[in-house]
Amino acid sequence: MIKLAKTVKLPFSICKGTYSQRLEKAKALNEQLFSKINQEFVEKDISPDVFIRNIKKVTNNKIKFLIDDSTNANYKGCTLLGFNPKNCSLADRFKIAIPLNIFDKKVSIYDADIFMHEFFHFFCEITNPKHLQRMIKNYEKNLSISTEPFYRNYFYSKNNLDLDFLEKTLLPNFLKKFNIYDQIDFLQNSRYRLIEELNAFREANKYYDKIQENHLDLISEKLSTESGESFHFEEKIPIIEKALKKILKKARKV
Ligand SMILES: [Zn+2]
Repeated sequence: MIKLAKTVKLPFSICKGTYSQRLEKAKALNEQLFSKINQEFVEKDISPDVFIRNIKKVTNNKIKFLIDDSTNANYKGCTLLGFNPKNCSLADRFKIAIPLNIFDKKVSIYDADIFMHEFFHFFCEITNPKHLQRMIKNYEKNLSISTEPFYRNYFYSKNNLDLDFLEKTLLPNFLKKFNIYDQIDFLQNSRYRLIEELNAFREANKYYDKIQENHLDLISEKLSTESGESFHFEEKIPIIEKALKKILKKARKV
């Protein structure tokens, strides 16, 4: 059984409370980190070491993580829970992948949307050990493998999807393949992931604008970033919640 080490979660005194309180905590940590990093941009590129130093400050040195390069990956950024190399049943670190410049391996101010999005995920995970635990549970019972394609194709996707069709046909037909407990785990996990993504895109937008506004002298032109609206998270979250409510009601009767 996979265990979560202390180095992937903040102390309970910090991350206690309801889900929305923890979400607010993650936002507050992201803001703290932003205000530190914002001051470090005296040129338009800075070393990943500056990020490491400041993340350590914000997390009181309690969390183990590394910054990786996403330049050649098929995603812009990614935050993953990782295992101890000597003990593969101990999840004890995070890997945060963000784009580093090809020549000097520094981080560009123009990638602030990506790194603030990923740092928000990182803060969500270290303040939500319950969510991490659920992801691990789904991974251990192979539910992640069997549900990830659906999640990627319909929930975390920009496909021009008929949401009514998703709610009334695609999702109910997909859920039929699983027992009631797996249906609940899949839906709960998807719900948290979409809420996190919705907020991660909002954070990215907010800070992308802010950092450029604060450093107009460093940039040649002000750019905008993806709003995340084309994913339709706000419409998909209630679809998941409705399905979940229906199944929980059924489960109580069993
Ligand atoms: Zn994301």
